[in-house]
Amino acid sequence: MVNSMTYETIIGLEVHIELATVTKIFCGCPTLFGQPPNTQCCPVCLGLPGSLPVLNRTVLLYSLRACLATGCSITPLTRFDRKNYFYPDLPKAYQITQWYQPVGQNGQLRLPGSGRLIGIREIHMEEDAGKLIHDDEHDCTLIDYNRSGVPLLEIVSQPELRSADEALLFLETLRRTLIFTGISDCRMQEGSLRADVNVSVRPAGSSSLGTRTEIKNLSSYKAIGRAILSESKRQADLLRSGRPVRQETRRWDEDKNTSRAMRSKEEAGDYRYFPDPDLAVIPIDADWLQSIRASLPEMPGAKQERFRAMYALTDHEADLLTSDPVLAKLFEDAAALSGRAKETATWIMGELLQICKKRSCHPGDLDLAAADLATIVTQVAEGRINRGSGRDVLIAVVDRGADPVAYIRKQDLHLIDQPDELEKLVAETLRTHQQAVFDFRSGKEKTLIYLVGQVMRCSKGKADPQAVTALLKEFLQN
Ligand code: ADP
Ligand code: MG
Ligand code: ZN
Repeated sequence: MVNSMTYETIIGLEVHIELATVTKIFCGCPTLFGQPPNTQCCPVCLGLPGSLPVLNRTVLLYSLRACLATGCSITPLTRFDRKNYFYPDLPKAYQITQWYQPVGQNGQLRLPGSGRLIGIREIHMEEDAGKLIHDDEHDCTLIDYNRSGVPLLEIVSQPELRSADEALLFLETLRRTLIFTGISDCRMQEGSLRADVNVSVRPAGSSSLGTRTEIKNLSSYKAIGRAILSESKRQADLLRSGRPVRQETRRWDEDKNTSRAMRSKEEAGDYRYFPDPDLAVIPIDADWLQSIRASLPEMPGAKQERFRAMYALTDHEADLLTSDPVLAKLFEDAAALSGRAKETATWIMGELLQICKKRSCHPGDLDLAAADLATIVTQVAEGRINRGSGRDVLIAVVDRGADPVAYIRKQDLHLIDQPDELEKLVAETLRTHQQAVFDFRSGKEKTLIYLVGQVMRCSKGKADPQAVTALLKEFLQN
């Protein structure tokens, strides 16, 4: 039986965030990334018998920040549970996570644009596992336990997202909210933000949920978008041809652009969850919670609104400038110092993000002082240097920490601002380009551009092309 039913897609996300704490969740080992294998470990994170976990207070603080920023209710007595399963990257044969009393529940995020509220079922704390390294050449597998015990936050959305675009918008809104709270840098390509995607389809207009599959191994926004599209099509095709969707975990293959079944979905019962007897129940102090709430910064959505209203930015500008707290602060500080918000926005969105893109780095990595950016913006806006020189100065500042004013002076970048100097240049150029002058006067107006170019060359690029054009016209008409 084949039908032509229309299906709609429903998506729920499970997002893992690596918390930016200095030490691990239950021991004092550093969380440093990229260290030699198995050098950041101790008996606790190696799961040796007799060792006991002690909760890192900063992990709890960061978790509470995330919960408050996403409107979750805080569980008054939160605690940890053991999730039992065996895998070589998990030496205790259980993961310490939260199952019965997650730190936060029933939150929501508002999507920009549509304004739709998407529910967050819960936020819980857990430990990361080690890392398996498959060595095909020697036909063996190595284990690095440096990552085991690195603190994670898992954020579970309700199944309320209705398209790939909406899922990506939710993820981006969540990412921004969390980086603004300062608990993680949420960089997907570095693994500090990972998302598993649950997808189901149902007949359009139906109010019950279809059987879902979970897709793992998604490491970019692009992959997530594609995986959702491909999986909802696969499911709709199955249902149309009268076959059921099996509840299973699937693995996304980025190169082949398809997913394949990995295992049938495990049930909660398989894990034999039970409260971890080594860790005490945690009462959340009301005063502490209040002080955390009070210390939360302005959230990106509110900041975006304020930027638009206060600085007359376009939607696109306000959106981009609030995509990262470092960028937002750089913009606001440089705009205040230069008194030129619009030009500052243009410089950041154009030149600065260009530099970041070329070096595939983040704005925060550039370490650019707002005062230096303000100087460059002002010099260009006041016509003291041209745009191209401004770009050179910016690169010198970013690369070598040059002082913009000193650099402009040393490189002699200031534009000629004495009218008589410019007149001299124009007169000289006209004298040595008689043929072009003749051509222009006999109607070949394009010659003007050529002459402007000649004056610019004479000035070694230090004339303002607009002033040159005006002056040339004046000379040629007399
Ligand atoms: P589990 O604990 O087995 O992983 P949950 O019910 O906690 O399952 O849900 C996990 C994720 O799957 C959540 O993000 C939820 O929104 C999503 N989800 C649950 N049911 C569906 C469904 N029918 N379609 C799409 N997503 C779903
Ligand atoms: Mg799950
Ligand atoms: Zn340790």
